[in-house]
Order: sequence, then C-alpha cells, then structure tokens
Amino acid sequence: MAMRKISIFGATGSIGQNTIDLIRRDPEGYDIVALTGGHNIAQLARDARDLGAKIAVTAHEDRLPELKQALLGSGIEAAAGASALVEAASRPADWIMSAIVGAAGLAPGLKALEQGSTLALANKESLVCAGSLLMQTAARHGARILPVDSEHSAVFQALVGERIAEVERIIITASGGAFRDWPLERLKSATLAQASSHPNWDMGQRITVDSASMFNKALEVIETREFFGVLPEQIEVLVHPQSLVHALVGFRDGALMSHLGAPDMRHAIGYALHWPDRKHLPVARLDLAAHGGLEFRAPDPDRYPALRLAYEVMARGGLCGAAFNGAKERALDHFIAGRIGFLDMAAITEHVLDQLETEAGLIDDAITLENVTRVDDLARRAVDRRVVQKAG
Ligand code: NAD
Ligand code: MG
Repeated sequence: MAMRKISIFGATGSIGQNTIDLIRRDPEGYDIVALTGGHNIAQLARDARDLGAKIAVTAHEDRLPELKQALLGSGIEAAAGASALVEAASRPADWIMSAIVGAAGLAPGLKALEQGSTLALANKESLVCAGSLLMQTAARHGARILPVDSEHSAVFQALVGERIAEVERIIITASGGAFRDWPLERLKSATLAQASSHPNWDMGQRITVDSASMFNKALEVIETREFFGVLPEQIEVLVHPQSLVHALVGFRDGALMSHLGAPDMRHAIGYALHWPDRKHLPVARLDLAAHGGLEFRAPDPDRYPALRLAYEVMARGGLCGAAFNGAKERALDHFIAGRIGFLDMAAITEHVLDQLETEAGLIDDAITLENVTRVDDLARRAVDRRVVQKAG
C-alpha cells in the first residue's frame, strides 16, 4: 500500500504525542509532511528528525532561530508564527491531525479542509467557534472531518449503519473532573494544582482544568450539535466517574447504543487514523468483571454552571460560540496566572457573553473566519477588563 501523507498540528501536545506513538508503530505506513508545536522546540525538532518530516513549525516567531539551530543539517524546513502554520496546512496531505489547543487551531484546520484533506479533529474549540464554517468548507472541497474527542468518536462509531434522522438523543458522559466529590463551598478556593489532576485521563493542562470546571463538557455539548446536526434538547450530559462508557446514542425505538473502552486517547485517534477500517490498537482491553460496577448520575447544575452556559450559547446561536470560547480561554489564562478564582471563570464568561450579545452583533453577523477572529478578540479583551474591574 502507498504511504499516506500526514501532518500533525499540535504534535508536541498530549494528543500529538499519542498520534506520533501510533505512527511510529508503522514506519512504512506514513510519509510525514508537517509537524507543529509551541515552546517545546527540542521535542518538535526531535520528532521532526525522527519521523523525517518535511517542515517543522513553531507557533512562536521569537523561537525560530532556536528551531533552525535544532534542525541544522537535517534538511528539514523550519518556520514560525500563525501564518506559517496556515501555510503548512496548505501542503498536500491525505490526513491531518488538528490537535492545537484553543481557537488558534481554526485557521490551519480550515486551510487543511480547503485542500481536501481528511481532518482528524481533536481541536473542539474550532467547532465551537465556527462549526458551520468548518462543515461547509469540508462539504465544498470534498474533505472529511473525523472526530477525535473520545465522546464524539464514540457517537460516530455508534452511528455506523444508522440514520441520523432516527436518533432521539445523544448522551455524552463526563467523569465529573477533579472536584466531582468536593463540597460546593470548597470550590471557590480550588487551586490550579488541584484542578490540574484528572481522575482518569492524562491530558494537556488546559483541558484538564476545563474538565474540573466542566467547561470541557460545555464545549463538547456544542461540538456534538455542530458535528451531528442534532438539536440542543437532544443532547444530554451524564456523569460517569469511571470514564469507561464514552457516549450513548438513543434511537426512536428506545434502543441505546453505547461505546465502551479504556480511557486512552489512542483509541479515538487510531479510529480516525484507520477509518473506515479498524486495525489493532495498543489500548488496554476492558475487564468489566474486574471493574464490577459502572455508576451514573445527573450533573449537578450548581456545581457546573458552564454546562448551563453551553445551552444558552446554542439557543442564541450565531457568533455566541466564538464569544463563549474566547471568554472561556481567557478566563482560564487568568485562573492559571492566579489572578482569579476557580468559580470566577464561569461567572466572568457569563458576564462577558451577556455584555457582548448586546454590543457586538453576535447573533446577526455571519460566521466567517474574520468575524470569528474579531469576536474572539473582543471577548478576550472584555474578560481582561472584567478581571481588572473585579480586582479594583
Ligand atoms: P496540549 O496542551 O497538550 O498540546 C497543545 C498543542 O498545541 C501543543 O503542541 C502546543 O505547542 C500547541 N499550541 C498551543 N498554543 C498554540 C497556539 N497558540 N498556536 C499554535 N499551536 C499552539 O493539549 P492537548 O491536551 O493535546 O489538546 C489538544 C486539543 O485536543 C485541544 O483542543 C483539546 O481540547 C483536544 N482534546 C484533547 C484530549 C486529550 O486527551 N489531551 C482529549 C480530547 C480532546
Ligand atoms: Mg472529550
């Protein structure tokens, strides 16, 4: 079989490294075009050399000399900055992993679709900001988007051979994150270190904190709507502390199809890599008898205000997703920097959403890359102002 040309955006992150782990197991199978990363130049250069990439790109322009130095003598091209990322996405590839964290993944993802590539989408933020734009771009260029988020991969797999019109509801599960059993009044003083450890999944820091606050699940609810085209009222979130059942799809005859597996992202990545085939994957096989029980409970709305916000964002529509994501990303920056508390993230995001709705044409303006970028920027600046206001 011919080698498949692939690129990995966000190669140095948790999803990127898991993707590389799978690629390395089949050295004859893939021809690596582009790898991209951020500050971890050593890792990026090492993987680019090891996998024989054509180009390595760091998001940060000031790190270019270092990247060039690290690639010296390898013949691998070095580039840096946001436009270099988009240029790298325009290089022909059969399959492109979108695993940049945050809205920065949108522009390269769109470019990859414009050249007709299959886009394996871990970067849920781009769907939240600009779902219709991504879907329409894919349709226009005959490209395909495959889900990599574990819940959405699970739904996608449960839908094989089914008709979406017969789906009554989609249930995505949530572990409940680091604080699922904390008394509510303690949440206010939750620290970054406490929010940065996930009970079941090993992931990047930002998504781990977002799991504790359920902002991650809020993004995933919107991602479900954009991906599968169902109505907000058809999407449910179920707390499932073991993280073995990833999602369930309910059909009009009452049947529920569920997807189970070990909490290992290499399953969803591998499914997207080999789709429509299934190949052997190095993930643990579940021993359900050893686990004994699976628990489920409804999410507590007081504990997870971000979930309510997701439904409000979907009800309002338009560019609210972009505002929501931008505000949430910036609030997370402030939490990580120690400037605001854990619960302030949702309170500030909600405040900014309400404020921008009346000011920024969130509902009426078209979902274009330009408008999404403008609203994303407005939302981040509104968060900054709110943080200063609250501190003063
Ligand atoms: P991570 O923080 O481990 O890695 C992020 C990657 O993006 C790194 O390569 C980093 O260098 C790069 N990056 C960061 N900021 C950038 C910018 N401004 N421009 C360009 N590149 C930038 O994150 P992760 O956990 O691997 O998550 C990546 C994406 O996958 C996120 O959208 C996340 O929500 C999604 N996701 C992750 C998991 C998981 O298990 N880690 C599961 C489901 C979905
Ligand atoms: Mg997920």
